[in-house]
This record gives sequence, structure tokens and C-alpha cells, in this order.
Amino acid sequence: MDEPQPWWKCSNCGYTLQAVQPPEVCPSCGQKCIFVDATCYIPECGGPGNIDPQIASKW
Ligand SMILES: [Zn+2]
Repeated sequence: MDEPQPWWKCSNCGYTLQAVQPPEVCPSCGQKCIFVDATCYIPECGGPGNIDPQIASKW
């Protein structure tokens, strides 16, 4: 069974991607920025493997 991959959000530009590990350099803004885990873990938004719309709209 495949583990759902977490979502990561660049705290600099807001770029989101789904990967096991966040990239070292953001492919969108090209900065070494902090990636925030934006995965939703509650069934309300689909559970693991889905992005949390609340986190996604934060920046
Ligand atoms: Zn970025």
C-alpha cells in the first residue's frame, strides 16, 4: 500500500507541491526557503495526501 505523500508549501512564495521530502531549493522562487507541511490529516478535506485548504490560503 502506498503511503500518501505529504504536501509542502513554500513559506516564501506560497508554491505548493506533493513529495516525500520538500526540495532544497524552491522550484518556483528559486530560494532556499522553509517548506511548511500543508498536508491535511482530517477526513473533512480528504485526509492524508490532500492539501489543507486553510494552510494553502494562509500566505
Ligand atoms: Zn518559493
